[in-house]
Amino acid sequence: MTYKSKFGFGCMRLPLTDENDPTSVDQELFNEMVDVYMEKGYNYFDTSYAYHGGISEIAIRKAVVERYPRESYQICDKMPTWALTSAEDNEKFVGEMLERLAIDYFDVFFIHNINVPWLKLAEDNNTFEYVKKMKEDGTAKKIGISFHDNATLLKEVLEKYGDILDIVQLELNYLDWEDKSIEARKCYDLCVEYGCDVYVMEPLKGGVIVNTSDEIKKDFEEFNPDKSIASFAIRFCASLEHVKIVLSGMSKMSDLEDNIHTYDNFEPLSEDESEFLDKMALKLRQSVAVACSECGYCVEACPEMIPIPEYFHLYNTSKNQPESNIYKHYFDKLGDEKVPADDCTYCGTCVDHCTQKIEIPDELEKVREHFEEGFSAYAGAP
Ligand code: SF4
Ligand code: SF4
Repeated sequence: MTYKSKFGFGCMRLPLTDENDPTSVDQELFNEMVDVYMEKGYNYFDTSYAYHGGISEIAIRKAVVERYPRESYQICDKMPTWALTSAEDNEKFVGEMLERLAIDYFDVFFIHNINVPWLKLAEDNNTFEYVKKMKEDGTAKKIGISFHDNATLLKEVLEKYGDILDIVQLELNYLDWEDKSIEARKCYDLCVEYGCDVYVMEPLKGGVIVNTSDEIKKDFEEFNPDKSIASFAIRFCASLEHVKIVLSGMSKMSDLEDNIHTYDNFEPLSEDESEFLDKMALKLRQSVAVACSECGYCVEACPEMIPIPEYFHLYNTSKNQPESNIYKHYFDKLGDEKVPADDCTYCGTCVDHCTQKIEIPDELEKVREHFEEGFSAYAGAP
């Protein structure tokens, strides 16, 4: 296996024609990106039943399945674990996914987002047995789970199902490597111990690693002006021996070009670079107000449909760039068009869905206070 073969196209954050509508995938631009990606010799597409409200799978059908021979690409799809209500649902969802993609087998198939409540749903609905059968009858060449919890739960899952799983897809990046709630290093070590390959999601932690403070950007520039911040994050993951795929969610052609440059000229991370990233992880942890990866799972769960990641994004930007006029932006753009952060009823539903274990209602309260105070100061400024 070469480093180059590790570059996976994550299809959770595809280019959009309307940034406020996640289903408005820009098919033309996506097709162009797929052509560049395939032409450069890359071929792995990762999607799920849920991404872009189901449109991600359809966009892959149009860009890849209808335009390239089946043997020239690989597709990974995922069971919507949270939506399972009976054992029959396994077949229903798999049938729907195959139909949306217009394929008759998956190269890789995961049980999506295993955490405490959704592990129970998967077990109650016989999903582990179902995906084992998918592998036996050729509907999936490889099977696994995507995992969003700590090492204690992963050990429990691998102890029970490690012998049938080929792959664990983990959130892994240099910021979460030693993080006490994500425990990426411990989870990686467990996968190695139980003989599962590791596929990486969120190598940039949903953009937290790159959308950082000016001070951190300057540190990277001084350390090596020729390499992008994203390229360090990708190389951190792809340099790990048992990591076989690193997904990059790319919503612009320039993201794709930067990644191609990284993989076409791949160099494993040096010791110096590794030490530098340790220092940057420490600095980043201190500078990020809410470590939200903008995955969006909480929004789907929230009965008030509060655009939680958008509020956290604005909050982080405001904290990192206090001189910016983002206070006004919060009220103008989100306050008028979206559900305000103070519509939160503290029902707590979102917390179970959060992949980063964020105490969302408490953090939303801080967001609201921050913007209200900042806006009063701004509005009162001469
Ligand atoms: S606690 Fe607030 S943000 Fe979370 S689901 Fe309930 S209303 Fe939505
Ligand atoms: S708050 Fe949690 S679930 Fe919601 S987008 Fe951020 S990381 Fe994802």
